Amino acid sequence: MNYLPYAYFDGDIIPFENAKVSVATHALQYGTGVFGGIRGYRSHDGASTNIFRLKDHCERVIQSASLVKIAFPFDVKGLADIFVKLTERNAPEGNVYYRPFGYKSGYDLTPKLTGVDDGFTLYMMALEDYYSADKGLDVMVSAWRRVNDNMIPARGKVSGAYINSSLAKDDAQAYGFDEAIMLNEQGKVGEGSAANLMIVRKGVLITPPVTADILEGITRRTIFTLAQDLGIECEQRSIDRTELYVADEIFFCGTGAQVTPVASVDKRPVGNGKAGEVTMKLFNRFHDVVRGKVPEYSDWLTKVPVAVAAD
Ligand code: PMP
Repeated sequence: MNYLPYAYFDGDIIPFENAKVSVATHALQYGTGVFGGIRGYRSHDGASTNIFRLKDHCERVIQSASLVKIAFPFDVKGLADIFVKLTERNAPEGNVYYRPFGYKSGYDLTPKLTGVDDGFTLYMMALEDYYSADKGLDVMVSAWRRVNDNMIPARGKVSGAYINSSLAKDDAQAYGFDEAIMLNEQGKVGEGSAANLMIVRKGVLITPPVTADILEGITRRTIFTLAQDLGIECEQRSIDRTELYVADEIFFCGTGAQVTPVASVDKRPVGNGKAGEVTMKLFNRFHDVVRGKVPEYSDWLTKVPVAVAAD
């Protein structure tokens, strides 16, 4: 990965390579961390890095943290300010990805939450597409079930829960697929290993509800807003596995995935195997919005002028 030179680490901006923790760190041993994933897009006129839905992401980081009793010495606004300061310092030349990480930094031996010290870091990397954009993904329904909210909070980005994602993604790739779709404990469609899922049936955009043990994705919310504004009928309801086999279109959405069409599920082509009309409409709208080409959604962008260079 192409990490940018500076990171924020417990109150200071320091060289990325110095942002380090001990092997005894609670979060490293027990997965007691929470993270975020946020994109900054170079604006279409090249004048700014537009951080996408920064406030919403900061809210979710803080909410994820509260689920596992990690406290920060800042609020949503204070956290957002750290993103802006670090962006100014790193002066990125292209599109970037931010990784905030709150974690249990103490060396306590007991797997618990209260009384263990907390830490926070933010670092950045250059990132273009996470999935190759030129073809849809071949996916499988994973034998691994999505973590249940009564096991590990499903609506937060809790580090330890990503063992679940890693197992599903790894299996999918080992079997020659690009990605996995995980069902929840009820056997209903959940999401991908690191992205939410939407299907289109007879022109209606459908996605599982937030009570389906899914991450409450910010791109998921974004796509629903864009779809509604484009006059596309939207529904949140539980989705059966076999609906994946008869859907006209399927796509993943997420900060990393952006909008990524699914070409096949369990070797069954989705529609004609090519990205569908609704998917492409949303794909194009999404990319225009994040690059600042659609003024109605400019509230979603935190613009950091490119002219502010590192010292
Ligand atoms: N589900 C999971 C499990 C994820 O890791 C992600 C990526 N953050 C998403 C969904 C998409 O969420 P968002 O749109 O907020 O990035």
